[in-house]
Amino acid sequence: MRVITEFDPWKSRICTCPRKYSFNPYTGCAHHCIYCYSTYIPDFYRLRQKKMLLPRLERDLRTLPENALISMSNSSDPYPPVEKELELTRKAVEMISERNLRLLVVTKSDTVVRDADILERMRSAVSVTITTLSSETASVLEPDAPAPYKRIRALRKIKNSGIPAILRLDPVIPSINDHEIEKLLEKASFVDHVVSSTLKLRGDSYRRMIAAFPELKEKLREMYFREGEKLGNSWYMKKEIRKKILQRVAEKCEELEISYGFCREGLFFKSRSCDGSHLIQ
Ligand code: SF4
Repeated sequence: MRVITEFDPWKSRICTCPRKYSFNPYTGCAHHCIYCYSTYIPDFYRLRQKKMLLPRLERDLRTLPENALISMSNSSDPYPPVEKELELTRKAVEMISERNLRLLVVTKSDTVVRDADILERMRSAVSVTITTLSSETASVLEPDAPAPYKRIRALRKIKNSGIPAILRLDPVIPSINDHEIEKLLEKASFVDHVVSSTLKLRGDSYRRMIAAFPELKEKLREMYFREGEKLGNSWYMKKEIRKKILQRVAEKCEELEISYGFCREGLFFKSRSCDGSHLIQ
C-alpha cells in the first residue's frame, strides 16, 4: 500500500487546494482534538506506527513528478509526542529533501522546530494550527496537543529560520473561539499567510463537542443541523454566518498585510493558494 497518495479531501467540490500529494507518517493521532475531522477512520485516536514506513516512502517518492507538492499531514499530525524519540518524520523529511519536491508541513506541534535545519535548506513551508490563545480552552479542544504559547513560539522560530510560516486558524467555532480572531491574528502578525475555516460537524464530532460544552448543545444543533447545510459528509453553518466570521479574518489580515485563504468554504479570497503553498518557491 502507498504511503503517498493524491490529496483528495473527501472529493469535496468546494476544495480550492492546488494539486498535491498527501503523506501521513503516522496512522491515527495522539492530539485528541474533539472537533477532529479524521475520526471516521477506525480507532483514529490511537496512534500507530506504519510498517516499513521509510522503504515504502522511498518507493513512492520515486513515482512522483518533479516539483510535486507533498502535504504532510492532512489526516494526522506528523509530530506526535513519540516522534521526539522515533524521529520517523525527521527521516522522512530528510528523504523528501533529497528530491526535487516541495513540502508543506501541517502540524500542531512545536517539535517541528527540531527539523528546521532540514526544512530551511529545502523548498518547504510550515503551517501551525492555533485555534485559541487560551491554554484552558485548548486543553478542552485539543487536550493532548502542545499549549498555544508553544505553537506561537514555534511559528516564530520557523519564520526566523527563513522558512515561510503559515498560521492555520482552523476551526473557528461559534461561542468558543470566534471572539479571539483579531487577538490571535495580532499575536501571529509575523506570519506569511493565514488559512482559516469555520467548524464543520459530523455526528461523532457533534457528540464530542456537546460532551465538552453541554451549554452549546441547542445552539450548535440549531446552527448546523436545522439552519445549516450539508456539504459532502459534513454539516456547515449557513453561508451568511460563515461569511461574516471569515470576513473578520480577511479584514484583520488586510490590516496586518498578511495574505489569507479559506479552507473548503466556497468563499472568495485573493491569495494565490488557500493552504499557503504558493510561498514554496
Ligand atoms: S491534530 Fe489534527 S488529526 Fe490530530 S486529532 Fe487534532 S485535528 Fe485530528
